[in-house]
Amino acid sequence: MSLENFEQIRSFDNENFVHPWESMKKVGTNSRTFAETADGIYLYDENGQKLIDGPGGMWCVQIGYGRKEMAEAIADQVHKMPYYSPWNMSASPSALLARKIAERAPADLKHVFFTTCGSTAVDTAIRFVHFYNNVRGKPQKKIIISREKSYHGSTYLSATVSGKTRDKDWMDTASELVHFLPDVNPSRLPEGMSIEDYLEDKIKDLETAILTIGADKVGAFIAEPVQASGGVIVPPKGYHKQCLEICHRHDVLYISDEVVTGFGRLGHWFASKEVFDIEPDLITCAKGLTSGYVPMGACLISDRIFSEISGEQSQGSSFSNGYTYSGHPVAAAASLKNIEIMEREKLADNSARMGAYLLDGLKELKQKHEIIGDVRGLGLFCGLEIVKSRDTKEHFTPDADIGAQLTQAFSAQGILLRGGDCMNVMPPLCVTSGEIDDIISAMDEGFSQVSKNIAV
Ligand code: PLP
Repeated sequence: MSLENFEQIRSFDNENFVHPWESMKKVGTNSRTFAETADGIYLYDENGQKLIDGPGGMWCVQIGYGRKEMAEAIADQVHKMPYYSPWNMSASPSALLARKIAERAPADLKHVFFTTCGSTAVDTAIRFVHFYNNVRGKPQKKIIISREKSYHGSTYLSATVSGKTRDKDWMDTASELVHFLPDVNPSRLPEGMSIEDYLEDKIKDLETAILTIGADKVGAFIAEPVQASGGVIVPPKGYHKQCLEICHRHDVLYISDEVVTGFGRLGHWFASKEVFDIEPDLITCAKGLTSGYVPMGACLISDRIFSEISGEQSQGSSFSNGYTYSGHPVAAAASLKNIEIMEREKLADNSARMGAYLLDGLKELKQKHEIIGDVRGLGLFCGLEIVKSRDTKEHFTPDADIGAQLTQAFSAQGILLRGGDCMNVMPPLCVTSGEIDDIISAMDEGFSQVSKNIAV
């Protein structure tokens, strides 16, 4: 496309396309990078510049870009049958996918409710908790306990239980339905406190909240196994397991939000059982479910709670929740192909191995660049905390726009990375060690550049 034509496209973007988290001040004047084509772990922008996709799209493109067999699986399903109503019919790809997910899920989480994305998966989980308690004759059990700095989505309910306060500055939520616990961040241990005491405090936070609100009013606790957009926060060992025990002691359901951690990111299909040794009551997933080729999410429900309110115990109820596109056959066909590729190429194992290699490389960068305050991660789910001072762990003020400076410097070195206080490095799961070497050397150069500017 000629440059002139492209400028026209950019004007359409500015005038007509309202993006997520749109900055209203910048409306009409944005100059976003356009992703025009993609292959493997690379994106090509409007100028043809090749960029390593550092965040793997939005941490979702597990199999990488440009997979012909994926395009064919999607096209085949479109030719065969592109849509059916999930209200009163079913179709083979959707039923087969539900089975494949159930077989890979922990314990008895074998009931799969298909949604359109992660937010609607979380929405569905919360609506199911409310429904479950209504049918059991406990309609007061509605409050969801969540944690500060968590992110669970952008529909009204999933945004309600998200704990990033800045996202709520201008937005309304159903705040009466949620209670937030302080965040859990072992990299910010209070001075002199051991990790064991910190863990005990965090566990106490949950039990105290349940007892203070009243267990008869609390429906569920929701947590990401590793907090993603809150800054790649890995909780202390045993945290999730002890939280689950407390929940079950008080008849509170546990929702494990695996929208990011599911489908190989931490080296397993799901992280709940394999990494954190818990069997939650509900699991939400999306992103890696289709590797982002088409939208889809899912809410998995344990047989224990499902059977408690079905059949003889159903009270004649219906779970009146669903979408025109629940179990969409084209998305299901894409997800089946995605699972086939991930299995054939052992991408979850690759995530564990390459994740460890990436983490070592990032730790070496920390030795060289003062601006990196902390490096953390599990599998190909790594984050760097950017600080103004390592001693005080203070972050840069928003007007320093450090995230934009870093993004620009990295982009000049051929890698796309976003972030502010934390930069998430989460490439596609098919990344090779050679490509990780390229990521580290591009970041090294980018950090040197920005550190020089800061020093000036
Ligand atoms: N849950 C978590 C943990 C997420 O990180 C996200 C998105 O990043 C969501 C839910 C929402 O998913 P989606 O953007 O697909 O609606």
